[in-house]
Amino acid sequence: MKRVIDKIIGEEQGREHIIICGIHGNELAGVRAIKNVMNFIRENNIPIKGNITALNGNIEAIKKEVRFVDKDLNRLWTEDYISRKKSYENIHEIKELKELNSEIENICSGDYKNCVILDFHSFTADSGIFAIPADNERSVELAKVFQVQFVEKLTSNLKETLIQYFAFKGATAVVFEGGQHFAKETQKNIEAGAYLALTYLGAINKDYIPNYEYYKKMLQTKALDLPKHFKLSYIHRIKNGNIFKMNPGYVNFQRIKKGEVLAIENGKNICSQFDGTMLMPLYQKQGTNGFYIIQEN
Ligand SMILES: [Zn+2]
Repeated sequence: MKRVIDKIIGEEQGREHIIICGIHGNELAGVRAIKNVMNFIRENNIPIKGNITALNGNIEAIKKEVRFVDKDLNRLWTEDYISRKKSYENIHEIKELKELNSEIENICSGDYKNCVILDFHSFTADSGIFAIPADNERSVELAKVFQVQFVEKLTSNLKETLIQYFAFKGATAVVFEGGQHFAKETQKNIEAGAYLALTYLGAINKDYIPNYEYYKKMLQTKALDLPKHFKLSYIHRIKNGNIFKMNPGYVNFQRIKKGEVLAIENGKNICSQFDGTMLMPLYQKQGTNGFYIIQEN
């Protein structure tokens, strides 16, 4: 498996659009969706403004269909991990991190302001697709294109993510969480999200996407009947080595009450400290954050 899924050079120069999928190796709907999108653009000779490069995230984890091999590749984006030579050699993801980083650095060649990163994911819980913009205005504007709920201030609190790392350098960057890992519709949601974003960014003209209106309506119907704009209030970080078990039944964007028992960690109840809204409850074995609490902006 190659790092570069495809790179399509535009007829006109413009932005660098970087599409990433499978930064978590068990999120195969995104990997399939992005392959389809790139094939569609290439096979139909759709004129492009700027360049579009699609990249595989964690190649070894994609092959094994696991979230990660040694460490979560989307929690390693710090100068320390990227530039240190020795002490991390036994962590497989450091190799992926360095390769992916140099690929993105080469594409952007220092001009991050002219670079957009679309990072596609899926999740374990059963409802509520959403977007996570990096912490700058252009990214927040871009997140609105998906027309579903979006959560601000998440990446600035979760500093080790890819989008935050490159947003800090000046890129526009957004994560789109397209649905449950194995749900049939997730791949379609991600394809729709990619087309809407590339159109909004001016990389492709919507007239070349026959299903454009359908995709737009489809994602509109996926938005929950809630305010669209949320911001992060709390991340539950699981302490190293602790046994964490989320209580059953939580889904994205479920209302929760102050004092509600959300999970058990090393035998102790974890209660919500706020009235708020649940995001990304952890129901898979691998993961470092138990859940997130967000509130309406
Ligand atoms: Zn993910």
